[in-house]
Amino acid sequence: MIVATTFADCRRLGAGVVGLVPTMGFLHEGHLSLIAMSAATCDTTVMSLFVNPTQFDDPADLERYPRAFERDRDLAFSAGADVLFAPDDSQMYPGEALVSVVVDRVTDHMEGARRPGHFEGVATVVAKLFAGIQPDVAYFGRKDAQQVAVVSTMARDLSFPVRIEAGSTVREADGLALSSRNVFLSAAERKRALAISAGLFAAADLVDAGEVDAGAIESACRERLGGIDLEYVQLADQASAQPLEVLDRPGFLAVAASVGATRLIDNIAIDPIGSRWMADRGERLQKPSMLYGERDAAGR
Ligand code: AMP
Repeated sequence: MIVATTFADCRRLGAGVVGLVPTMGFLHEGHLSLIAMSAATCDTTVMSLFVNPTQFDDPADLERYPRAFERDRDLAFSAGADVLFAPDDSQMYPGEALVSVVVDRVTDHMEGARRPGHFEGVATVVAKLFAGIQPDVAYFGRKDAQQVAVVSTMARDLSFPVRIEAGSTVREADGLALSSRNVFLSAAERKRALAISAGLFAAADLVDAGEVDAGAIESACRERLGGIDLEYVQLADQASAQPLEVLDRPGFLAVAASVGATRLIDNIAIDPIGSRWMADRGERLQKPSMLYGERDAAGR
């Protein structure tokens, strides 16, 4: 249980097979499930905590992003992390940044189209973490399906010797995908936000029943999305994040919407099981997430 603030210290502490879980903190059970995945197979699990300014396309979003260092440190270690890498801005960006990583095509649609510069920030900071920490395996959440595609492409094309593993989306008992941003939702907004997972589950039922037409799958989802400010519903290829017209390869159905001032994304992955397609609805918590603290643990 050690906090490292420099890449050199982090590398020195990484004995054996090193697993890396990159995060921006304000941890919840989704982050902890990735730490547990790493701890189950790697000798050393490093969790990085860095609120990366270059991946925020909206300065107000960066400003209000929730931060709680001591809380996150204690949670990371109790979930099985051996090293918490918590660099300051000067460790991550030692001089004026003249090099950045642009991932083509995978970023054309969905989040890439809506958030200019976002994936350039993500790909660059993850490349820096891979170069500085030199992990053997890196863990990302399927909750950010396009990000998994972007990071996998980046690691492949830049020849990083890192295996990318993706963990299932962790959800509240009622289906809402965990996100650090959920703390901004009022009780009424939180209720409205449930339309997103309800829409995705309705589409998942259709996929499990054998539907492969993207229009039909997307419509089943869209029909449930009242009461929120919908940006997109998109069926896409898991590897390339290109839109699919027919489900003929591993895919994901993604939704982005704003509820009040909070922008949320969610998706269901669709994987081959034998000769059929099966939706991954993620895992559900039995009780309210730790995000809500004592107040909600007591029941809401
Ligand atoms: P973040 O701190 O939001 O950058 O997320 C750090 C990692 O946790 C990313 O790989 C996310 O995809 C993953 N993650 C975020 N929310 C969830 C969730 N609900 N379930 C599983 N993984 C998640």
